[in-house]
Amino acid sequence: MTATADALETYLDANHDRRLASYEEFLRIPSVSALPEHADDCRRAAEFLAGELRTIGVEHVDVAETRGHPLVYGDWLKAEGAPTVLVYGHYDVQPPDPIDEWVKAPFEPLIRDGRMLARGAADDKAQVHMHVRATEAILATRGRLPVNLKFLFEGDEEMSSAHLDQWLEENRARLGADLAVISDTGFFEGNLPAVTIGLRGISYFQVDVLGTAVDLHSGVFGGAVQNPANALAHIIAALKGTNGRILVPGFYDDVVPLSDRDREAFAALPFEDEAYRAEHGLSAPVGEPGYTTLERRGARPTLDVNGIWGGFQGEGSKTIIPASAHAKISCRLVVNQRPERIYELVREHILRVAPEGCRVEITNLGGGLPSLTPMDHPATQAAVRAIEATFGRQPLFIREGGSIPVCASFESILGLPVVLLGFANPDCNAHAPNESMILANYETGIRTIARYWDELATLPR
Ligand SMILES: [Zn+2]
Repeated sequence: MTATADALETYLDANHDRRLASYEEFLRIPSVSALPEHADDCRRAAEFLAGELRTIGVEHVDVAETRGHPLVYGDWLKAEGAPTVLVYGHYDVQPPDPIDEWVKAPFEPLIRDGRMLARGAADDKAQVHMHVRATEAILATRGRLPVNLKFLFEGDEEMSSAHLDQWLEENRARLGADLAVISDTGFFEGNLPAVTIGLRGISYFQVDVLGTAVDLHSGVFGGAVQNPANALAHIIAALKGTNGRILVPGFYDDVVPLSDRDREAFAALPFEDEAYRAEHGLSAPVGEPGYTTLERRGARPTLDVNGIWGGFQGEGSKTIIPASAHAKISCRLVVNQRPERIYELVREHILRVAPEGCRVEITNLGGGLPSLTPMDHPATQAAVRAIEATFGRQPLFIREGGSIPVCASFESILGLPVVLLGFANPDCNAHAPNESMILANYETGIRTIARYWDELATLPR
């Protein structure tokens, strides 16, 4: 170990108890962004972070107002000639209910079996706190950072970051950087260190099939009028084949095919179809032919009905032709699909296949861009080296099937490559009762972050 790494370790060792006490203090603030009665708590969490950043020597610390909960900004920009990194995390948490399923009250942190249990223990307060503590340790032992850091801690992430894009647009000038690092992801199943390289985007829409003003008698009118529920079933069946292939013309046009290297990275992940089937109670994993389960859920687009309703739903029988039928449908998207384009393609296809005798309305309910940072990007490779040096093994490369809206915003609004450096254990129960963070991930992750800044500082610019 080098002298500086030694000093860092000594400092982190000496401050272990104080660090955990501060992590617990942060967790005790019920910063639930979705519930108006916790607005003051969100502000309190933002002020807590701002205070921590000021105390450790971060400059220009600002609790910035948005139309939602406040954002915390702070920077340290004295590493002349070194890269500048925008670090993102969020201090808001999901509502804790159902409360009675928690072993202890969700905002009373409990350490048990090497884990910190509390709402936000993993998502995302741990990771925000790790960044603060890593910065503290470097500044305390060296008096300076190897890279320039700009911190951005948000309070609306669990509400789709609804107010962030506008703030990013308005503050573009002070957010200039070489790279964004988002710490809001986790390790692979089995708590194996991983770097998330891709996230899927989304396009969400509603289909309303409208017939008559009121339900009709199916004996009197049946056979002579269009049935909106049948028509909707016909439309949905025309969207996706039984083999999982999406039938909308042009849907796959912009999809970047998987390279051999991509497929090798998927194949390297420890994963068993049979265990997956059993764990989730599936009769069989299904999906697009020619792809593995992990490829299907990480690197291929989807089309799924999220909800469907219309007509008689009560017990027994009622002989009607429903006046209308409705469905909510979403597509998960991969690079380089764009939500607006996909919405247009699906819309055109639905109108083309819609049966006669009813009116079809389609409403766009929103979308988000997919993102992918190449495995061989120098900043990704620097993260690989930092993880290997601290966790003692090469990280896996994973693609999340879900979305982190801010990731695409950093790419599209700020033009930054994004590295998703996250440390949550896959069994952390994020958004569920008894959320927990494995403390070894938290502790080693602090060392990884510190090491990552050193690795980035050595990259040629
Ligand atoms: Zn999160």
